[in-house]
Amino acid sequence: MPELPEVESIAQALRDGKLSLLASCVQRVDVLWDGVLSGISVVDFKRRLDRAVFRSIDRHGKYLLFGLDPAGSSVKRFFLVIHLRMTGRLVMSAATDGHDRYNRLSLLLDNGTCLRFDDPRKFGRVWLVDEPSQVTANLGPDALTIGNEEFAVRLAAHQRQLKPLLLDQSFLAGIGNIYADESLFRCGLHPLTNSGDLSSSDVRRLHGAVAAVLKEAVASQGANIDGVFKAGRFIVNVYGRQGQPCPVCATVIVKTRVGQRGTHFCPNCQPAPPGRRNQGSRCLTLPTMVVT
Ligand SMILES: [Zn+2]
Repeated sequence: MPELPEVESIAQALRDGKLSLLASCVQRVDVLWDGVLSGISVVDFKRRLDRAVFRSIDRHGKYLLFGLDPAGSSVKRFFLVIHLRMTGRLVMSAATDGHDRYNRLSLLLDNGTCLRFDDPRKFGRVWLVDEPSQVTANLGPDALTIGNEEFAVRLAAHQRQLKPLLLDQSFLAGIGNIYADESLFRCGLHPLTNSGDLSSSDVRRLHGAVAAVLKEAVASQGANIDGVFKAGRFIVNVYGRQGQPCPVCATVIVKTRVGQRGTHFCPNCQPAPPGRRNQGSRCLTLPTMVVT
């Protein structure tokens, strides 16, 4: 599943790559599976995008935000919002290339290219809205840009285990299973540590680890897990490495489940919080959270 670094890499490629989407004009819209659209009919979606021009490409958490100017400049800018979810991919290809069997949406552009949204498992969604906040209002601040002070203030409002808290998109937007595990390993905190038990130096270390891991992952164009993001060069230390030696201390990496999510950690570098044994497969129930 693409997380913040992978989505940021996609945004950067579409904005700054050889085939930039910016300034290109939509010539034709093909919706190959109606269910990909959220909150708008196929007819309205096509009508609104027709002859619109891509003007900006941004990201909040795992959401891609495309600003478009409609045909006729007197009309206000609107936004195409895309969440790739589990298996969604955005592909720029030559307009002459045939449709992939998993293609759900296709925008033919005036520069001879085509922006395709492919999604084998159909979890990804697309919105067309006046303001991105119509889709992203429930998200917390972006995990890549939040400062230490705001991070500490938000953390202080919770008494939650760190792993589910980091995954909760209403707390912080953009972190998924890979980068939650990697961030906690980086700062030596156990996934079940309660956020309310952290000292102010722990909080600074956690924020520093989140920021460093995400920045390194963005610079590495994300992580290539299961061959999904082939360009990704980020090296994971614990995620998916259960049974292998910790790269710091050589203790065997453990996989357990926290709130239905596979969780990887080093029992030596990340000591268990008081009152908990460090190994085992206890399954904990998550409190209400927004996971998108
Ligand atoms: Zn270790």
